[in-house]
Amino acid sequence: MIYLHMNVFRKAFLLLSLFAFLSPGCEKAADASSNPGLLLASYSSRGTSTPPVARAGGRAEVIVKSVKFLGGPRTIHHEVGPMETIYRLSRMYDVSPQSIYSANRLRPGDSLQVGQKLIIPNARMIRHVINVYRNPQWKYIIVHHTATGKGNSKIIHRAHRLRGFQHGLGYHFLIDNGTLGKGDGQIEMFPRWIHQQSGAHCKAGGMNEKAIGISLVGNFNNEKPTPNQLQSLAFLLSTLRSYYHIPAAHILRHRDVPGAQTECPGKLLPMSRLK
Ligand SMILES: [Zn+2]
Repeated sequence: MIYLHMNVFRKAFLLLSLFAFLSPGCEKAADASSNPGLLLASYSSRGTSTPPVARAGGRAEVIVKSVKFLGGPRTIHHEVGPMETIYRLSRMYDVSPQSIYSANRLRPGDSLQVGQKLIIPNARMIRHVINVYRNPQWKYIIVHHTATGKGNSKIIHRAHRLRGFQHGLGYHFLIDNGTLGKGDGQIEMFPRWIHQQSGAHCKAGGMNEKAIGISLVGNFNNEKPTPNQLQSLAFLLSTLRSYYHIPAAHILRHRDVPGAQTECPGKLLPMSRLK
């Protein structure tokens, strides 16, 4: 499901400049960087075999949900997203960290680069792996779309940096739609979530400070989200709701926030059904 094809990545790079112009997302830059032109070529995530460590919100608790059995061990080609670790990948694919290290000639402690291509040998399963942190900050959940037909964490993270979001991606989670080498319904966590930072996804109502931002890849003015995206969104909403005790009335589409002048996330996201 998360196969990496070289032609897909060539396509991804060709699309990169296009995406910069398309400016995926729906919020104006709220945390303009002093160097908004800085590209992400050099940013890296640490590759460790240890679970996520304590952040501002405390030590992470890891919630894992099996999504798909692969029907026998198989080799997966995976592109490293922002802040992914060998530990996380080992949980995602039900493979030991050691076998990922040896298949990729890595050693514990080696850095992973965003966009790095890894072989995952003998993957047995695809799972959602979600970190949650004790943090009383989160009172709402706001759902967005990227307003682009294609996308993945790397491309949208870069595009948000180019738009002046100092910490990159303005959301906390992204749900992929199966384009650009990612799985349909794959949930990606972003640095903002792992560092428990306020969002840059909904200025109206002070929501950046109190709402978890989830975005789905797609433009739901023109197309429906995929069934896998909806299933993943339902899982993520229910996980976050129960962990943070967020009432259903506090789960909003971006357009539902008083003062938000946007159509995001389009008219084809069946929000009432999800609630
Ligand atoms: Zn939005």
